[in-house]
Amino acid sequence: MLHAQAADLGKGEVGKVGKVTAVHAVTLGPPWLPWETTSSCLEPTLPARRIDLHTHSSASDGTTPPAQLMREAREAGLDVVALTDHDTTAGWQDAERALPAGLSLVRGSELSCSRGGISLHLLAYLFDPDEPDFAAVRRTLRDSRVARAQRMVDLLAADGHPVTWEQVRALAGGTVGRPHIAQALMAHGLVDSVNDAFMPDWIGTRGRYWVAKAELDVVDGVRLVVGAGGVAVFAHPGASKRGRIVGDDVIALMAAAGLAGLEVDHVDHDESERAHLRALAAELGLLTTGSSDFHGDNKEVRLGAHLTSEASYDEIVARATGLPVLAA
Ligand SMILES: [Zn+2]
Ligand SMILES: [Zn+2]
Repeated sequence: MLHAQAADLGKGEVGKVGKVTAVHAVTLGPPWLPWETTSSCLEPTLPARRIDLHTHSSASDGTTPPAQLMREAREAGLDVVALTDHDTTAGWQDAERALPAGLSLVRGSELSCSRGGISLHLLAYLFDPDEPDFAAVRRTLRDSRVARAQRMVDLLAADGHPVTWEQVRALAGGTVGRPHIAQALMAHGLVDSVNDAFMPDWIGTRGRYWVAKAELDVVDGVRLVVGAGGVAVFAHPGASKRGRIVGDDVIALMAAAGLAGLEVDHVDHDESERAHLRALAAELGLLTTGSSDFHGDNKEVRLGAHLTSEASYDEIVARATGLPVLAA
């Protein structure tokens, strides 16, 4: 029932976007010029906004508190930043309060999803956090994430390793995940690095102390985001270095369920992956984005390392009915 409603909404959104885009094309360009030349004519007087639609704060597995992240985003020359912590909206309020002049905030989240045993991430933008169906699913995922981390700590403790739940929770600050258990293992000198903790002897996937997590089917995830008035973009779809990735057939299913776009310009994609995703997006009528996937000191990538085009950003904003973009 829920899915049928969400699917209908998805179709409605797609129809609306077609119209909105057409209106933009007509109104943005001077009528005496072919539209292709419009952007180059405007460039000298109107510099493109710098838009980064994928960042993590300390509300999930980043190291930068949300308020500081907003300041750093502006200092990095961004005009628009999306805060997309894993499976949580906990950083939104602090980010909103600290929003500096000249920076627009897109409230979002990166949802942990799965398909056929493959883990994948879905960026959800500008959804209504109080929409009951999506809110209930997010709550279940959050609870299961905590229970899973607790179980892994229990398994470690049962083998005599001195890791405690209190310590892991303190290291996390926000949503608890495997990186925080890894940090605890490092703190006790049991592993040399976070990477070592993610090996089979420890908490690596299907490893000795690893516990499977409950995940949302990605097609259901797309429907839930759209049903809450949000816009869904598939995060790093071609990041094959991280693990197994889904095929184009799954991306087509996601598109049919209301997916808006593919994150193409991402640090984990090489040039051939980007070219393939760009062609696939064109074929499926999806927009493309580029983002840093900033994690503070947990990863090397800097804010604004990859950017989203103004056209894609404007379409995301036009599609969203859940929340507005915030500006100070
Ligand atoms: Zn991700
Ligand atoms: Zn991310």
